[in-house]
Amino acid sequence: MQRRNTQQRRLIYDILSRTDSHPTADWIYERVKRYIPNISLGTVYRNLKVLKDEGLILEISDGKQSRYDARIDDHYHFRCDVCGNVYDIEYDIIEINPKVDQLRRSCGFKVSRFNIEFYGICRSCARGEESEKNN
Ligand code: ZN
Ligand code: MN
Repeated sequence: MQRRNTQQRRLIYDILSRTDSHPTADWIYERVKRYIPNISLGTVYRNLKVLKDEGLILEISDGKQSRYDARIDDHYHFRCDVCGNVYDIEYDIIEINPKVDQLRRSCGFKVSRFNIEFYGICRSCARGEESEKNN
């Protein structure tokens, strides 16, 4: 049982780490089923939660739908309001640090972590192209 759980979790992690599309649990489920046909969506969700709790993946939620990311280094996200795709944004952490210091000085708040997400219209949607949906 324990061994099976570990294998399932490793497969889910592998699938997620091979894409940069920030997929939904449904998208991951469709791919896991190719290897484990009798797996349930609930099991996929449970494993995603464990991976997240272990700090191996990120959950990106807009309050309605969660997407997942195996990339856990410092980076930010842009979510397209039109196609719903989530893109990685490289943003120099140095630009953020002065703001964090300011918060400590002016409010006395010691920041331990923060989350920045950008919203708008992605390049392909702005061009009116049919963008590749992954959910
Ligand atoms: Zn878009
Ligand atoms: Mn990302």
